[in-house]
Amino acid sequence: MIQTENQRRAYLRALGIDVWVPRDRAEPAGVDAPEVDNPPAESLDWPALRVAVRDCTRCELHATRTQTVFGVGNESADWLIIGEAPGAEEDRRGEPFVGRAGQLLDEILRAAGKERGDVFIANILKCRPPNNRDPKAAESAACRGYLERQIALIQPRIILAVGRIAAQLLLDTDTPVGKLRGQLHQYANIPMIVTYHPAYLLRSPTQKRKAWQDLCLAMDVAAGKTP
Ligand code: URA
Repeated sequence: MIQTENQRRAYLRALGIDVWVPRDRAEPAGVDAPEVDNPPAESLDWPALRVAVRDCTRCELHATRTQTVFGVGNESADWLIIGEAPGAEEDRRGEPFVGRAGQLLDEILRAAGKERGDVFIANILKCRPPNNRDPKAAESAACRGYLERQIALIQPRIILAVGRIAAQLLLDTDTPVGKLRGQLHQYANIPMIVTYHPAYLLRSPTQKRKAWQDLCLAMDVAAGKTP
């Protein structure tokens, strides 16, 4: 629910609707300014959320991005894939997982009988970190509300966290992926499986067998079979 006048204005702004404010009721300069520029995500619908992400200036990455990478796929998907952050190709094209790792992700999904458009694919960060460095804590914290809102809107049956960064940030742990995979986790009351990042699988193809086991586990959980 939209609670304050300020939030209402932020929401309308996020929708691209100009808000007329009588001069005597305008907010004093500086009051709640960040909220107006970057509306809180928790009450936004899909169109408003897309605009809020597109215009986001919550962290320093907005200064170096070509564009934000919101996520792609079916907004009512059973499967939500969560990766780390856009790379160079994703930053250029505005879509997650479109480089070599993305092609492998598509193959992995196809092995599970799914096309890219059947699932929803998102990242922890919506902007590319320069030189593909790891996300900083402040960046993932600033972006968290957008992913949480995406999860709340999609209500997937299963979350597949691909790679160390996504798995560790979502589970708030520093346990290695090799120890997190192969078991059922929960994120926001939604079953979650951790698996290797496709970029890692490109470097270590012998681990593909384990990734396939993770996928089978995810398929079972999504089908309501508990391990
Ligand atoms: N790696 C990720 O984690 N996400 C992308 O979108 C691309 C590469």
